[in-house]
Amino acid sequence: MHTLAVGEDERLLFIADLHLGAERPATTAALLAFLTDTAPGCQRLFILGDLFEYWIGDDDDHPVAARVATALHALSEGGTACYFMAGNRDFLLGEAYARRAGLTRLDDPTLLAGPNLKLLLMHGDTLCTDDKPYQAFRAQVRNPAWQADFLSRPLEVRRAMAEQARSHSRIATAGKAEAIMDVNADAVVAALASAGSPDLLHGHTHRPGCHPVNTAERLCRRWVLADWTDRPEYLAWDGVRMQPLSGAPAPN
Ligand code: MN
Repeated sequence: MHTLAVGEDERLLFIADLHLGAERPATTAALLAFLTDTAPGCQRLFILGDLFEYWIGDDDDHPVAARVATALHALSEGGTACYFMAGNRDFLLGEAYARRAGLTRLDDPTLLAGPNLKLLLMHGDTLCTDDKPYQAFRAQVRNPAWQADFLSRPLEVRRAMAEQARSHSRIATAGKAEAIMDVNADAVVAALASAGSPDLLHGHTHRPGCHPVNTAERLCRRWVLADWTDRPEYLAWDGVRMQPLSGAPAPN
């Protein structure tokens, strides 16, 4: 498992599921405010997937992506290291965009390890093992051959395919039971056990909270990030403990 060492007294921020795109200017504005007002006081910012509503290749430099890249790059230049873990919407975000945005890409899962901290980071979709059709789709689109074929197509073809996938996803989601789209309890326990970590943090389900998890070894916690609408939604590690979920201030 990929492990990232963090130092003592480091302040960390975690966000996910912004689903940025041309249709959601208020969310882009909330992010840009967060990156200038809140994030500079922290040593690291972790973006745990679905930063963008969809991503069809780093060669599609649409205006929202360009503005976000500039703001993230400025943040990292200012001394806040920025990390990106792919979500189920933006898994094609590649090294070229990451470099433009000053982002370091992370594997899913990645274990953060520090003197006071052991925290397993995931996007969260791999934990939703009850959703068999989604897991089959995921296996297909995460296949390097599928990705190479997709990325070789003209931008307008890729855009049309992504729009079609979004509408299929909306239809499929509407027909699925709520429980199917949440994490599977056994998958959570297995992830925590394989990492040897007492804490797991993920997004994806849009069901923010902190849930106790009983594993064979100990009582663990599962932190779930909120998705964004028009204000920042984040969790913060202050060097000693995780700050509660609610109370993220609205942008000025
Ligand atoms: Mn997701």
